[in-house]
Amino acid sequence: MLQQTRVETVIPYYERFLERFPGLASLAEAPEADLLACWAGLGYYTRVRNMQRAARAMLEMGGFPTDYEAIRGLPGVGDYTAAAVASIAFGAPYAVLDGNVMRVMARVEDEPGDIRSTVVRRRLLDAAQRRLDAADPGLFNQALMELGATLCAPANPKCLLCPVETHCVARRNGRERELPVKSRPGQRRAVVVTLLAIEKDGRLLMWRRAEDSARLAGFWELPESEMAPDAEIVGVAGTFRHSITNTTYEMVVKRARLARKPLGFSWLDEDQLRTLPLSTTARKAIALLAPR
Ligand code: SF4
Repeated sequence: MLQQTRVETVIPYYERFLERFPGLASLAEAPEADLLACWAGLGYYTRVRNMQRAARAMLEMGGFPTDYEAIRGLPGVGDYTAAAVASIAFGAPYAVLDGNVMRVMARVEDEPGDIRSTVVRRRLLDAAQRRLDAADPGLFNQALMELGATLCAPANPKCLLCPVETHCVARRNGRERELPVKSRPGQRRAVVVTLLAIEKDGRLLMWRRAEDSARLAGFWELPESEMAPDAEIVGVAGTFRHSITNTTYEMVVKRARLARKPLGFSWLDEDQLRTLPLSTTARKAIALLAPR
């Protein structure tokens, strides 16, 4: 859950999730609609689908794997997660490299390269691996993450309080504030999208994304204006912004009428709107229509 999402945001979702899915079996057997509804609002839904696939794999294995390779082989688990779980839960000797550790290592090593580069990241991971405390790798990894989160801050590192100051080459060379080097990401794109709110007898016209859709598979959406060219616009319900990676979508929600339901669309009633998985943009748009 913490991939791409802040701790404060995650906590209530985490508690609800554990209440609803207290063990591997309940997660492995959950209907997809329940799973997605429980995750709605957190975004990046591939994570929860992978979690269910991982739960199924673990049931087959007979429980949570304890060695790095087997953990790394679970759906949705990358190098970082595998190293963090293997070292912290099972004491396996694998260094982690998150954003905080990357900053600490770039300064300790006085690394001049761009940390967006894969080669530089590999170099920093190797440096952390060389320094790993084999007696307690989990504690070492957590200490480095904590150092980066507290003292070795991006703008004002508190070097005088730092326990590794004597090992820090950037500090010795007076370059701690210049590092790490990080190139600017590409410019943000702005896109305007018109969503249509077409109501009939208290129900709302929606469509469902295909199961093999690359994004938000199985989620319900409001029609975009291009999908219902015959719709007659009767007013604007409101606007909101939605950001995905480097694109900002300006969503305009318009109320509209339509004589006939187009193929592939469904009328959803209040109950269905409450219980079916809706995309974040659909939920934000529907909130603009209240009171319904
Ligand atoms: S000495 Fe300063 S720059 Fe170096 S690791 Fe410590 S806080 Fe970071």
